[in-house]
Amino acid sequence: MPTERVFADAHNGMLIISPRGVVLEANDAFFRATGYLADEVKGRRPGFLRPAAHGTGFNGYLWQSLRTVGVWRGELVKRCKDGSQVTDFVTVGAVRNRVGQTTHYVCVFSDIETLKERQRRLEQLAYFDSLTGLPNRLLLMDRLRQMCAAGRRHGRQLAVCYLDIDGFKAINDNLGHHAGDGVLLEVARRLSREVRSGDTVARLGGDEFVMLFSEPGTVADIQAVLDRIFCSLAALPIGCERRGISASVGITLFPMDDGCADTLLCHADKAMYQAKRSGRAGYCFFYPLAVGAILPDVTLEYLACP
Ligand code: GH3
Ligand code: MG
Repeated sequence: MPTERVFADAHNGMLIISPRGVVLEANDAFFRATGYLADEVKGRRPGFLRPAAHGTGFNGYLWQSLRTVGVWRGELVKRCKDGSQVTDFVTVGAVRNRVGQTTHYVCVFSDIETLKERQRRLEQLAYFDSLTGLPNRLLLMDRLRQMCAAGRRHGRQLAVCYLDIDGFKAINDNLGHHAGDGVLLEVARRLSREVRSGDTVARLGGDEFVMLFSEPGTVADIQAVLDRIFCSLAALPIGCERRGISASVGITLFPMDDGCADTLLCHADKAMYQAKRSGRAGYCFFYPLAVGAILPDVTLEYLACP
């Protein structure tokens, strides 16, 4: 088979590039993958395919690799003619003559977008709750660990709020599991709406949610957010009724509560049970050791002694 046919009929997009770095030829698969005809790319530098995000240092790195080892391999995002961006595994190889001079470079694109999509879906399954799309326990704990570490380094505060819906079983029992799911979804939406963009709302499972407030401010600021959340949940229609729901929330404050991520979550959970014991539809703070030091306007009446 003539070598031109190998190039023309290849399933992978291919470019032949001159030693000075301009495109000499592009095959049909390249056109199918990018929307660019060979005549539209000939004479141009292949860098035009890359979105700006790759940075300026990348070119130098690629050429150095080609000069020293004669090949570069790696993942690149390419921008197609219609503006869409696709991730490829790219191999650029130097073609040398008998005396070792580079006569061409051959660039081969392998579309790995399907692989990337599968990877994204696996990550979604591993780190997000399938019903609400919120971060799950695994991702929550990961973020909590990172926030504790950053908090220790930079002296930042953090509030961990553990929320459990009151009387949720009755909704399932009276209206069915499907309606219960709808309520959980709506709770997830309403919680996400009330927190700031840098904060986290996660679903641990069942009717339990956890919110992480970075730089929560004073206890009064946290109370204001929780009051907004309680109002929003009280206005949530259940079935045909407008009665709404209530929740019990336990809060612990880092670094007054200077535990690891697991301990903080456990303390917030304990405070939530204290809120349940105190009659539900309210919140309790985990009793910290050095109250006055960090949050000067904290008042003991809000603190639960676990
Ligand atoms: P309490 O006031 O003490 O919080 O009691 P509760 O009725 O809210 O019930 P509890 O928090 O102890 O348990 C939550 C229930 O949520 C248990 C389970 O039947 C139900 N549940 C768990 N996961 C799901 C789910 O994905 N969808 C639905 N619809 N229900 C769930
Ligand atoms: Mg509950």
